[in-house]
Amino acid sequence: MTTLDSLPPLRESLADHGLLANKSFGQHFLLDLNVTRKIARLAGPLEGETVIEVGPGPGGLTRALVEAGARVIAVEKDSRFLPLLGELAQAADGRLTIVEGDALKVDEAQLAGGPGHVVSNLPYNVGTPLLIKWLTGPWKPKSMTLMFQKEVADRIAAPAGAGAYGRLGVVSQALARAKVVMDLPARAFTPPPKVASAVVRLDPLETPPSAPEIAALERVTAAAFGQRRKMLRSSLRSLGGVALCEKAGIDPNARAETVPVDGFLRLARAL
Ligand code: SAM
Repeated sequence: MTTLDSLPPLRESLADHGLLANKSFGQHFLLDLNVTRKIARLAGPLEGETVIEVGPGPGGLTRALVEAGARVIAVEKDSRFLPLLGELAQAADGRLTIVEGDALKVDEAQLAGGPGHVVSNLPYNVGTPLLIKWLTGPWKPKSMTLMFQKEVADRIAAPAGAGAYGRLGVVSQALARAKVVMDLPARAFTPPPKVASAVVRLDPLETPPSAPEIAALERVTAAAFGQRRKMLRSSLRSLGGVALCEKAGIDPNARAETVPVDGFLRLARAL
């Protein structure tokens, strides 16, 4: 019987199956199991937990998640990887399910059959829409441990006042605690992307704002950061300007980049 330990190194698996990265699928692989095990630890503890992984590709992160004791449901869009992933599933003792599909379209509640975590080295072209789906959709992950381009990771976790602080950070942090937990240089991937990457850990809040509050937050942040150098009295004029700021207890002379997440939530509730 094949076991995880007896699987060939990832590079060999790729070569055996004649697989090369396809740019249109955002494929940049992690072939060093020391790195993927570290990501699994950052997502942990995972023993007995359900994990949805987007884009297993050659399965390096998948192996680490199964080794950590998780039950993994891996969604892959590129069908070329299915035979290789099938071999991994055989070695995974019934704890790995491979689903061919587009992660933007899958129903996570149905896939997971209950609560679960998301762990992924995300394809860059769909990373942000997937994050928004998991933050605001009907299935709330217990945690998310996600690899993004470093610049996107920094925007998700940026505090007020930082250069990277903007709409993505405000909406993410209104719904989850967010922290950059690991930096990875481009050379850690095969093939290397043009830019560095980073892993963000997001832990959704137990009592998040309601859907209408988040919709209002999106309107306020779009207006405020659309003109980030202007004072709120001017950038929020179409939403109520000075009166809205006063109702929310926010200085109308402040600029968007200095208003904390909590301040934006007050503005959204005042709308
Ligand atoms: N997890 C692997 C690793 O770390 O080596 C591969 C990561 S690679 C950055 C992104 C993976 O996501 C690729 O395998 C790609 O085929 C897959 N992918 C791209 N778009 C997808 C989508 N919309 N749904 C599911 N998988 C997708």
